[in-house]
This record gives sequence, C-alpha cells and structure tokens, in this order.
Amino acid sequence: MHRLERIKGLGPKRLAALRQAGITDLTSLLDCLPKGYLQAAQTQAVGELRPGEACVQGSIAAAPVLSYYAGRSMVRTMVSDDEDTLRLVWFNQPWMARQLRTGQKVILFGMVQQRPGGLTMINPKLLPQKGIIPQYRPLPGLPGKVFAGFIAQALAIAEEHAVETLSEDFRRAHGLCSRLQAWRLAHQPQSQQDLELARRRLGFENLLLYQMALRSMGPGIQEGPVLQPGFNTQAFWDRLPFTPTQAQQATLLQVVADMEAPRAMRRLVQGDVGSGKTAVAFGAAVCAIRSGYQCALMAPTELLARQHYASAQKLLSPFGIHAGLLTGSLRASERRAALEAIASGEWQLVIGTHALISRDVIYRNLGLAITDEQHRFGVRQRQTLADRAQGHSPHILALSATPIPRSLALVLYGDLKVSVIDELPPGRSPVKTRIVPESKRQSLYRYIKDKAAQGEQSYLVCPLVEDAQQGDSDKTSATALYEQLKTGVLRGTPMALTYGSQEESEKNKALEDFYAGRAKVLVSTTVIEVGMDVPQATTMVIEDADQFGLAQLHQLRGRVGRGQLESWCFLLGTENERLNILTQTNDGFVIAQKDLEQRGPGEFLGTRQHGKLLNTFGITDMRLVEETARCLDKLEADPTQEAVYRALLTQAEERFFSRLEQIGLH
Ligand code: ADP
Ligand code: MG
Repeated sequence: MHRLERIKGLGPKRLAALRQAGITDLTSLLDCLPKGYLQAAQTQAVGELRPGEACVQGSIAAAPVLSYYAGRSMVRTMVSDDEDTLRLVWFNQPWMARQLRTGQKVILFGMVQQRPGGLTMINPKLLPQKGIIPQYRPLPGLPGKVFAGFIAQALAIAEEHAVETLSEDFRRAHGLCSRLQAWRLAHQPQSQQDLELARRRLGFENLLLYQMALRSMGPGIQEGPVLQPGFNTQAFWDRLPFTPTQAQQATLLQVVADMEAPRAMRRLVQGDVGSGKTAVAFGAAVCAIRSGYQCALMAPTELLARQHYASAQKLLSPFGIHAGLLTGSLRASERRAALEAIASGEWQLVIGTHALISRDVIYRNLGLAITDEQHRFGVRQRQTLADRAQGHSPHILALSATPIPRSLALVLYGDLKVSVIDELPPGRSPVKTRIVPESKRQSLYRYIKDKAAQGEQSYLVCPLVEDAQQGDSDKTSATALYEQLKTGVLRGTPMALTYGSQEESEKNKALEDFYAGRAKVLVSTTVIEVGMDVPQATTMVIEDADQFGLAQLHQLRGRVGRGQLESWCFLLGTENERLNILTQTNDGFVIAQKDLEQRGPGEFLGTRQHGKLLNTFGITDMRLVEETARCLDKLEADPTQEAVYRALLTQAEERFFSRLEQIGLH
C-alpha cells in the first residue's frame, strides 16, 4: 500500500528509523503490532490503595508545583476521587507541570509507594481513556508515543483505501475478520476479545504468506541427481551389527523415496540424542554412492567428525565404501592427499568439519550433502555445502538433535520436509534426573570421586558468566571450578578442562583425554552440548541449572546414558516447576514444547533474526502455525483454488522475499 511519506511529522530521520525496523509502507506500519497492552479497565479507589502498580481515576486536586533538587526536576500534585486524595510525583518530567490543571479529569497508571508524606504514585502515566492502551516497542529515535501517532494517521488513511488481501469466502471459511477491522482492533482495542480477533486475522495472514514465501523460494524445486531406482533398505539394515528401530526404518524409507524422486531432496531428520540418526544418514550415503555419486558429511566439531569417521569405518566396511576424513588440523601434505582423493572420487564418502566447504575442495559428482547437528550450522552452511556441487543441485539431508516443535520447524524450515525419529534403540535405560540443592554440593562431588575410582566418567557443566571486564566469557566459570576441585575435593582424580574460547589444540587434547578415558572428569561450558558419545560417562552435573533453557538442559543430559550403565543427571539449583519438567520426562519434544511455551519463539530460537521476524508479526500462538500450514497444503493441492493461490503468492513475494533474503533463510 501507500507510501510512508503521506504521514505528517515523518522527517528523514524518523523515516530511516522505520526503514531500519523493516517498515517500508503504510501496510507494514499497521502490521507492526504493539508489544503489549496496558489494561486500565480496573481502576481502584484511592482509599484502598496498597504499594504496588495501580490505576486510579479522579480529578487533579491542586495546581502542580515544579521544583528542582540537585539538578533533578520534580512535579508534585494530587489526585482525588470522590473520597480520598493521593500524592503524585513525576521526576525529570518538568512538562507535566504544564499538562495538568486543577479539576482536570484523569486516569493514572503507575507505581504506588509508601513515602514519608504518605502513599504516593511515582511517575504515573496519563491514560487517554479507559480501556486497553497499546504499548509500542520504542525504535531508536522514535518514542512509542510518536509511533502511536503515526499509527493513528495510517489507520485513517487505510479507511479510505482498499486494503483487503483475503476474499470474503476465504475469510468466512477460516473465521477471519477483515484486515481493516483487524488493524483497528489491534491498535485501538476495547476488549480482550478484540485483541484475539485481531491477532488471529493478522497472524493467520502473515503466517500463511510467510510459509508460502519460504516454500516457493526454497531450492526444493530443482532437479536432483538421478539415482538407480529400487534401493533395498532392508538389505542395508541386514548388514549392520544391530536391528534398526521402527522409526529408523521409516525415516530411511522416506529419505530413499525422496532421493529416488526427480526433485532434489530437502529433508531434515530430527531425533533425540542417541536415536541413531547416523545410521540413517549412512543408509542414504550407501544409496547415493551405489549410483556412482559422492557423498559429504559435515559435522560441527573436529571431534564429532572423527567420531563419524570411526563409525563409518565400522558400519560401512561390509559395503566396500571408501571413506576419508578432512578437517582443519591436517598437515599440508595430508591435506593435499585428501583433496586429491576427493577430486578423483577415490573417497566416496567424505567426512569432515566446515573444512568441507572451503574453496579448494573440489568434489567429484557430489550427490548427497549431509549436515549433522544442523541447528549449529545454520541454514546458510547447509546450503553452502550443497553449493559445492558443480552444475547440479545435490540431495540435502540435515540431521538435528535439537527437537524443535513441529509448529516452529514449519516456520523455520518451511522448505524442508521433516522426519522425526521418535524412538530410542532398545536397552537404553533413561537418564535419571534429580535437582540437587546447594547444601548437597560436597556430597555430590564425593559421589563423582567414587564413580571415577570405579572407572566411570562425569561431566561438570558451567553456564556462561558475564564478566564486567571481558564481556561474555565462558572461560571464567569453568576455569574457576576446575581449579577449585583439582586442588580440593577431587584432588588425585584425573580431570580435563575445556571451554569455547580455548586454543583449538588444547580443546582437542582435553576432549581426546576424556574420550579415551584418561580424564575421568570433564569440566566445561556448553561446548560439549553437541554430539559427544562417551559410553563410560554416566554422570552429568549442571551448575546453576536455572541459567539454561530446558531444551538445552535436555541436550546436555543426553551426553550420558550412552552405554549400558545406569546414568544420572544432577541439576544444581533450587527445585521449581520449570526444572521439575526435566525430572518428569525424557521426551525431548515434550520438553521443547514446554520451553517454547515458557520462553516464546524468539527466545527459544536463540538466533536473533528469526526471533525478531516472529516478533514483528506478534506471533505468539504456535497453533496458528499448524493451522496455516494445513491451509496451505490444501491450497496447493486443490486445482480449483489455483487463482486464490496465485493471488496470495504475489502478496507473499511482495511482503517476504526481500526480508527472507536478508536473513539468509532461503
Ligand atoms: P544420534 O542420533 O544422537 O546421532 P547415533 O547415531 O550417534 O545417535 O547413535 C548412538 C549410538 O547408538 C551409536 O553407537 C550407534 O551405533 C547406536 N545405534 C544406532 N542405532 C541403533 C539401534 N537400532 N540399535 C542399537 N544401537 C544403535
Ligand atoms: Mg549424532
């Protein structure tokens, strides 16, 4: 719709501030929903006030007095309702003295405090009317109040134009009000119900178009490598040393069906730690290699790459497949030999770290690009590996151990199909989890010492600490704990220390020591979150557990319980409802869902840009994601809806393509 310039009072600076926030026209301005609302519906009688937040209605009972003290301005006056009088004070808002006159009717919202002169409301906000007051996120150089003024103007302009995007039939079918009404209700609500109507309508439209944009701009419509049809997955499983779970079998079947279809595969396999994603990935690799293609498997750390290489040698030897390892730590001569083996195709399966995407690696007929723990890599690297194939678009398989609720996966990976391995191999006893109060800390360390004496290993994980001098540092907390234990209660127990900013060689040594069992205790920050598989490790201790997100705690807990031995996870902290979720379930998806509900999508995702984008739409209701995804599935499949689909797609492109491109989501 219409240019922002139509708004009065919008100079170049403010225009730039809006643009910076992704607001480029009146439509996107009106789509920018309040971050919250002030509810002034319940006013209290002055005589019943207690310290705390309150809303009162009355009239100004005395002329405001402006005074200065130590360079600070103070405006004092009083408000009275029919019965009583309350003191009011504004600090550093001298203009309040001019805004108020005796006898003026006001609704005030603010913090009531007990002060020497009696109960006083501090810095109250003057509410224009009773009802619900939108609060806008302040933009740099653009106070919320000014912003609200722009919105009011934009609404008035919108009244005179055709702004509807969804046909009446469509709206009726999905229970949506008109767009104009939704904007009005969202920006000038009279009731809670208004807000729900508005959120549903605007959220529905935005999510529908957003997913449409994701799906249509993803690379999924390219032709992929052509495989020999009829890969026998059963024959693959028969040659492995274990029986696959149902979920592994079903997932591999989906993967193979994708790869044998003409389009390039774009699939994300999600499975809790230990669910056996690697074997499924190897099945896909065997399938591609059988047809003469090369396959690359990229892991986020050197240790994980080595681990995968070791399992490839073990599991894939019956298939006569040549696998090789390429990491950043190879010597120059080794590296040269590796590059040659890759270029000649001698290595059919290339395993490595992000060294795999460096420019001088020339693949021979790359047909399948697998990224492990794709959450860590981000979407861009997944694509970068695929881009290393020359002249065609390889199949892409992403593996993730971070369970993302289905609703969120749709928003994040709309261009990927998602499989879930929701079953663990038999014989694993679930990790037992306890919350341990500070008072039991020393006995917990003695337990670890005993376990070490019996040959069992423990992880001690510390949260990141904020260091005033160094900014965010992950070194301090882990190092301090390590030093303290080494010279204290764990003296004599072999220990290792690792943290994110450590030298690469030291880090590798620490992890190798633990891996090989030379170190019995590993003190670390969350660097061990990703994929370490040490069967003798049976105890996980998480310091200050409340500092972590639930999904992350679950992820950490998955580092133990990998072998036959009974495993424990101890969360240091005080018992609360949130941490209790972990003691009650081991299901990563249930935990992720709770985490999402508690922290909201922005926080849950961690990556700022995704969060920001979701925030801009005011998307808090994840159920709407599923509903719109189903709606889109139906639209795509129904030939009679083609015209509707096309019209929506045009809008989806206008609204989202450039923003998606900016954040590299496609
Ligand atoms: P993740 O999904 O966390 O990547 P892995 O693929 O590393 O899990 O598998 C964890 C361990 O379980 C590995 O040692 C693997 O060989 C083993 N494993 C995988 N599938 C099965 C199965 N069906 N039965 C028994 N062990 C299995
Ligand atoms: Mg793994």
